Amino acid sequence: MKRISIIGTGYVGLVSGAGIADFGHQVTCVDILEEKIEKLKDGKIPIYEPGLKELIKRNVQSGRLKFSTKISKAIKNSEVIFIAVGTPEGKNGNADLSAIFSVAQTISENINGYKIICTKSTVPIGTGEKIFKQVSKQTNKPFGYCSNPEFLREGSAVKDFLWPDRVVLGASQKTDFEIMEDVYRPLYINETPIIHTSIETAEMIKYASNAFLAMKISYINEIANLCEEVNADVHSVARAMGLDGRISPKFLHAGPGFGGSCFPKDTKALATLAEEKGSTMHTLNGAMETNEQQKKRMVEKLKYLVGDSFKGKKIALLGLAFKPETDDIRESPAITMAHKILGEGGQISAYDPEANENFEKMFPDIIYCKSWKNAVLDSVGLVILTEWNEFRGIGPNQLKKLMKSLNVLDTRNILNMNDFLKAGFNFDNVGRKYKVAR
Ligand code: NAD
Repeated sequence: MKRISIIGTGYVGLVSGAGIADFGHQVTCVDILEEKIEKLKDGKIPIYEPGLKELIKRNVQSGRLKFSTKISKAIKNSEVIFIAVGTPEGKNGNADLSAIFSVAQTISENINGYKIICTKSTVPIGTGEKIFKQVSKQTNKPFGYCSNPEFLREGSAVKDFLWPDRVVLGASQKTDFEIMEDVYRPLYINETPIIHTSIETAEMIKYASNAFLAMKISYINEIANLCEEVNADVHSVARAMGLDGRISPKFLHAGPGFGGSCFPKDTKALATLAEEKGSTMHTLNGAMETNEQQKKRMVEKLKYLVGDSFKGKKIALLGLAFKPETDDIRESPAITMAHKILGEGGQISAYDPEANENFEKMFPDIIYCKSWKNAVLDSVGLVILTEWNEFRGIGPNQLKKLMKSLNVLDTRNILNMNDFLKAGFNFDNVGRKYKVAR
């Protein structure tokens, strides 16, 4: 059993903290937001993530998981300190590392014996070395450093953390690898691949993986757009491509463009770093450009369906989170859509099973509804932006009773196109031309 602190109790820090406690360690999750920590101490979970509530409850009850705002105390009491603070987009596309270096400073002031500083946040290649140098300047106590990037996906974060495809450990000393392997001992026993690399390689693995997935999405979106022009069906194309073992079916879903707290900022940070190093990543630059265009393309599709103008029209947005099973709206395609509709004089009624509250902080003028049926009522256009399961069953007969004009844009390709076309809807989706079945 190790004493561990996790600094930063967000989507990654909270899931990792609860997961590591579940591995049998003594974990303190720390955050600067007192309100968040108070909520957690009261048994309330500040984010929506399937299975997280139960995982936290189990580990709090066993006494292995605690929450605190006392960062210095947590550092002094820990053998391994994970940094899991945010690294949002900063100036010129670079990652903003201010929270990382601020935490590193606090760690350096509180080192009182051998500890490992382990960065879980996604940080540009070379950051680990900077942290190491910063801390070394402040203390003469020995310490270790490890880069342990996190690959969990929001929406399935608990499962991803407890049963990962691999764990990446980047360090420079044998003892540090040994200590980190102890942290992940249950996974080691499960034969989860544990990759030992240098710090820089570990940092690169994270960016290279995210950028690759983002490129895959942009690629299938471009194929989808071309499918629309040549009467091909992107569903069948993606399915058949995905059955090729070299390609895999994952991240081959055409849609409104990627969003979320990671892909947009991580692709930019990698491309910016590549530019600074004189090693331009043309494929990645193209994928980012395609993504911006794809979000705009969805707006144009909707505008066309509702008669070339949003002015005075009520549009229903179903799905605000950047993906299902999360309440996270960061960089969600719904943001581009909402900005455009409102900016051009339209009205919006919206529904998301989990993200209404977060969206309302950004767009207070939208009417937020408690069900998709309420959102759709009297609208002249409906857009599906997130593929929540409850939207999959929406059919034309239900909508006919609720909508004022029958215009539907399904940016996630989850509705039955032919049913809608046969029922007389103005219908569009991504990468499939309208064909009424005979
Ligand atoms: P988040 O914004 O949800 O959480 C960050 C937390 O850090 C917040 O609660 C914030 O209050 C806290 N914080 C900021 N400064 C602090 C400080 N000085 N001391 C203590 N706490 C502080 O962010 P997130 O989505 O959990 O992402 C964290 C990191 O993990 C990022 O680098 C991100 O790129 C990476 N990552 C995220 C995901 C994901 O799906 N969200 C997946 C893999 C990796």
